[in-house]
This record gives sequence, structure tokens and C-alpha cells, in this order.
Amino acid sequence: MYRDGARKSIWQDEIKKFSTEPDLSRLFDVVIVGGGITGVSTALKLQESGKQCIILEAANIGYGTTGGTTAHLNDFFDTTFTQVIRDFGLENAKLYAESGKDAIDIIENNIDTYKIICDFTRKAAYLFALDDQQEEQLKSIAEGAAKVGHEMIYVNDIPFPIPFKEAVRIPGQGHFHPIKYIKGLCKIFINLGGEIQENCRCEDYDEQEGYVILKTSKGEIKAKNVVYATHIPPGINLLHFTNAPYRSYAMAFTLKDDQYPWELGYDLCDPYHYFRIQEYDGENLLIAGGEDHKTGHSDDTGEHFSKLENYVRKHFKVETVYYSWSSQYYEPVDGLPYIGKLPGSKGKTFVATGFRGNGMIFGTLSSQILHDLILTGKSKYKDLFNPSRIKPIAGFSDFVKEASGVEVRWNSAELSWDCPCHGSRFNVNGKILGGPATKDLQKVFPYQKKG
Ligand SMILES: Cc1cc2nc3c(=O)[nH]c(=O)nc-3n(C[C@H](O)[C@H](O)[C@H](O)COP(=O)(O)OP(=O)(O)OC[C@H]3O[C@@H](n4cnc5c(N)ncnc54)[C@H](O)[C@@H]3O)c2cc1C
Repeated sequence: MYRDGARKSIWQDEIKKFSTEPDLSRLFDVVIVGGGITGVSTALKLQESGKQCIILEAANIGYGTTGGTTAHLNDFFDTTFTQVIRDFGLENAKLYAESGKDAIDIIENNIDTYKIICDFTRKAAYLFALDDQQEEQLKSIAEGAAKVGHEMIYVNDIPFPIPFKEAVRIPGQGHFHPIKYIKGLCKIFINLGGEIQENCRCEDYDEQEGYVILKTSKGEIKAKNVVYATHIPPGINLLHFTNAPYRSYAMAFTLKDDQYPWELGYDLCDPYHYFRIQEYDGENLLIAGGEDHKTGHSDDTGEHFSKLENYVRKHFKVETVYYSWSSQYYEPVDGLPYIGKLPGSKGKTFVATGFRGNGMIFGTLSSQILHDLILTGKSKYKDLFNPSRIKPIAGFSDFVKEASGVEVRWNSAELSWDCPCHGSRFNVNGKILGGPATKDLQKVFPYQKKG
């Protein structure tokens, strides 16, 4: 399996080509663009309900951030309940808390129903404060959680060899192998009659009276509805201005003393560090992540691996570093994901983005929300996660056109050119790795030969 970066993640050995050689000239009920956890989960849910679906994927299943994630399954989030109570009110914060539980239930239900072997394990999570400032932060997080009825229990010990001031234990969390999981979903989707077309990039859409025409690298494809499960929608959209791209770093280590922490762990540093373990070829590996920064805003991306490794070596007895990789996520301007009708579309085109570091959950939840919106027009999460909840100001479309030509920055760790504004990425030769851009970089020849 390929990924949108030069480094190999721990998940990538689960190689499988999934294209089903579909007839692309037929009218599909729903085209789902993007073969990450969001696209695959949504496609399966719709196919289960009798819709004839196809997944169109620019590269291969798992190519995007789902192939570079760390796959913790949490029902508490990067945007805390305290922040949501402050900005959206208590009732909305309670609904937000429900969304995490709903998503983990969907994952567990898929695994049970379809007998998917994907190393799913229930775990407790520990949030720990390392200094006075983090202690205050933790207090605020725990107070918000109590208000929405989410269990966080103060504890005196944590299963991590990291000195801490204060910590809470959060039961009922989990982790899994993300690619084994979506591979399982893909197989069921195909068994139910779903189609998958890999190496097919979607460039634009046009909503007509009864259907949508998608312009793709394999020609025009027609569907009654379209879902952009591309992590960020292609082209130019309001959502590119309400989401900021970030890079996050992950490494997998063996430990000399075999003292692998069984549970999930998170400090409250800025940027924070997170931990889990994964069994690989009969051996445990400690996966640590963190050292995030805004895409295209680091002079030396390799340095973030050094910082992460130093942090881990300070606290754990590291034997060998087996994997190191980085990947991209999107920060929504008001902290909540955008799941629903694509802003600017006429109602047949949907989107799911702005997941922060909780995309296993919100990608999965999107499958239920988009399924419900397409089938019934209703969802209990429709308003809370409405992608159009932030209104564009007058003159916005001119501003968008102006801002869409931006200089890219070199990412030495993943050997890519990264756009600091909207997160498009290109390989060393300017070939597109990830959107919202839909075309390769133009070659510029500064010294043209005369004559
Ligand atoms: C290092 C890191 C660690 C993380 N850890 C966690 C975690 O522990 N728990 C958690 O919940 N979340 C985590 N996240 C977030 C989570 O991994 C992502 O939010 C999630 O994987 C996004 O899934 P997706 O399916 O929406 O997007 P992706 O997995 O990026 O899939 C999008 C797909 O769309 C395809 N595509 C894009 N444009 C087009 C186009 N124009 N035409 C056709 N196809 C296209 C891409 O090739 C890609 O395969 C982490 C993120 C990072 C960066």
C-alpha cells in the first residue's frame, strides 16, 4: 500500500489492490470520493441500505491520513467539552459528547457483525499534567467533562514512566489497526455489490437537475449524490478558509526492558504527545506521536522526529526505532468538524472534514450522518456539524481566487512540497500527493535557452 509521503508508517504492510473494474458509464446512486476511513465507512453504510455506491480514490485505499494515523479511539476530543460548552452551549456539548460514543459503537458493531480482525482492543486513557499550567488545563478539562456527564476520574498513578503532577483516567477508550479495519470494510462493501475505482482523481463537480457530474481523471462519472470524503474537498471552497492544515509526527519503538504501557496516554504539552502500543509480528511496539505544527511552517521537518525521539528516550528505555512517519490533519476554525452539505452546492454534494486529531471517530460518525442526510435529509448532528455554519463575508469569492496561488515549502522529512495555506502537497517532481489542488505543480524554467 502506498501513502502520501516518502516514509513508511507501521500500517503499510497490509497491501491490497481494491479496484473492481467498474462500468463507469452507469448512473450511481452515490459516488464517494476518497478511500480513507471516512469514505470507506460511508460507502459501506449506504451500500448496506441498498444504495448502489462507488468509491473513487486518487491513489489507493488508505493512501491519505488513514494510512498515517495512530488510530486511538477516543470519546473525548482535542476540542474539549469545556470549549464547546463556552462556544456552543451545554446542550450542544452534551450532543458532542454523545458523538464519540456513537462512533465507537459503530466501529465495534462493524467489527462484530462482519468479524473483522483488526486488533481492536478496549483501553483506558490517561491524561496527565506535567506542570502547574497543565494542571490548571486538566482541571478545566475534567470540569467540562463532568458537566456533560463524561467520566474522568482523578488518579494517583499512571502506567507511564513519566513524572506528572496530576492525572485523570478515562475508561472505555480503545485502539485498532486502521488499515486492517478499512480493508475489512472494503471486502464487505464489495461483497454487497459496491464498486471501487483506484487511481481516479476527481477534479470538479457540476450539479444538474437530477444528478451530479463528476469530472475525473477517468472521464465524467454520474451520480445522484456525491460525498467528498477526501479529508479536505478538492477545488476551491469556503472550507479551505475554515480549516488549517497541520502535520503530526509518529514513531514506533521497541523497548529494552519490555515495560510497554498497556493503556493509552496523553500529556498536555503544547504540542502534546500521545502513546499507545501495537503488536507487530509477535512483538510489541510503542507508538508515540506529537510535535505537530502548521503545514509548511517548519524550516526543518526532520527536527520534529528528533524532538519526539528525545522526549521518548528521556522516559522510556528505547531499544530500536522501527518506524517514523508524519501525516496531515485539519484544524477547524471553531473547533468542531464539518459534516454535511458542501457549502456552495445545491444539496446533492456532501463533505466531511475538520476532524483535528480525532478522525477515526469523526470519519466513522460521518458515515452515519451522511447516510442519514442522503436517505432522509435528517440527522441529530445536522446543525451542530453543519459545514455552512460559518457564513462567508461579502467579496469572499474574489478573496478565494486571490488566495489560491500560494508558494509551496519543502518538507525534507517526507520529500514533498507543501502548501502552507490549504495543505495541498506535491512530490519532488511536482506531482500531486494530496488536495485541495487537483493539478500537478507547473514546472518553471528560470533559465530558458535562447534561440
Ligand atoms: C499523525 C496523525 C495521527 C493521528 N492519530 C489519530 C488518532 O489516534 N485517532 C484519531 O481518531 N484520529 C487520528 N488522526 C486523525 C485521523 O487519522 C484522520 O482524521 C483520518 O484518518 C482522516 O480520514 P479520512 O478518510 O477523512 O481522510 P484520508 O485518510 O486522508 O483519506 C482521504 C482519501 O481521499 C483521497 N483523495 C483526496 N483527494 C482526492 C480527489 N480529488 N479524488 C480522489 N481521491 C482523493 C486521498 O488519496 C485519500 O486516500 C491522526 C492524524 C495524524 C496526522
